[in-house]
Amino acid sequence: MEKLLSVRNLRTIFHTYRGVVKALNGVSFDVYKKDFLGVVGETGCGKSVTSLSIMRLIEDPGEIVDGSVVFEGRDLLKLSEEEMQKVRAKEISMIFQEPKMALNPVLKVGYQIAEAVSTAEDLPIKSKEVQEKVYEILKAVGLPDPESMVEKYPHELSGGMAQRIMIAMGLVTKPKLLIADEPTSALDVTIQAQILHLIKELVSEMGTSAMIITHNLGVVAEYCERVVIMYAGNVAEIGNVKTIFKEPLHPYTKGLIKAVPVIGTKGKLQTIRGIVPDLVNPPSGCRFHPRCDHALDICSKELPPIKEVEPGHFVACHLYD
Ligand code: SF4
Repeated sequence: MEKLLSVRNLRTIFHTYRGVVKALNGVSFDVYKKDFLGVVGETGCGKSVTSLSIMRLIEDPGEIVDGSVVFEGRDLLKLSEEEMQKVRAKEISMIFQEPKMALNPVLKVGYQIAEAVSTAEDLPIKSKEVQEKVYEILKAVGLPDPESMVEKYPHELSGGMAQRIMIAMGLVTKPKLLIADEPTSALDVTIQAQILHLIKELVSEMGTSAMIITHNLGVVAEYCERVVIMYAGNVAEIGNVKTIFKEPLHPYTKGLIKAVPVIGTKGKLQTIRGIVPDLVNPPSGCRFHPRCDHALDICSKELPPIKEVEPGHFVACHLYD
């Protein structure tokens, strides 16, 4: 598989009144061409910070302090802001969790999609070509009557419609990578599957790679081909979805899978003991060690490096040293 994006040793921190939050502690993973990658973990594990760091959208008091994000041979962390804006306009798109927050409330949705096309293609916003692309993408995302849809303001849309507009804006420029940060968390359960199906269908038609950030293992099992499991700012395990669900290696991955409720089983729901650590003062060594039932002496002293244990299956745990 050909690599599209290589994230290496990415470190992002936030300066707060309580101290420095070490949000990403050396994150490394790859996204391949035509990949459909899930990034999963509990709240606060660094999934969203990873995607914002890739897009260089970390704002003050946040800061990317180390690492590289190589996209088609260029380190995005070394590009000028102007060059990065071109990458965001045409090559990597992002869809956010709250579509209505991401849309501009005072502009009609047709104008907002047209603006995305005109910026990416360097065409006048009112040109026929831009308008045709707007109608085309509105049809592709399953919104009926594009002529009246372009005239609507975001407050006139349901959550599902607004997310379809966001998908339209994200894919209208046919980017090489789509990053979707919890794209269905704010939506009605009945709409969630439709939106995920739509993303999967459109990205595979366009040959775009996708990175889906989620806390829902069901979404990963149903839609993704590969998965990155994150814990407290580190990558715990990476692999093919089938392998990870069948033979998870990292104790945290095993705990996450055991905690998924299974219909028809009785008794107490399984949980991972303890809570996600405070990243101002994270545990030393492996950040999972205070919650791990298999911790060794070395675990509180040294951060385990990520290792490939079989082709395409990586784990960061001293049990596999
Ligand atoms: Fe547990 Fe140690 Fe592995 Fe961390 S490195 S998951 S503490 S066994």
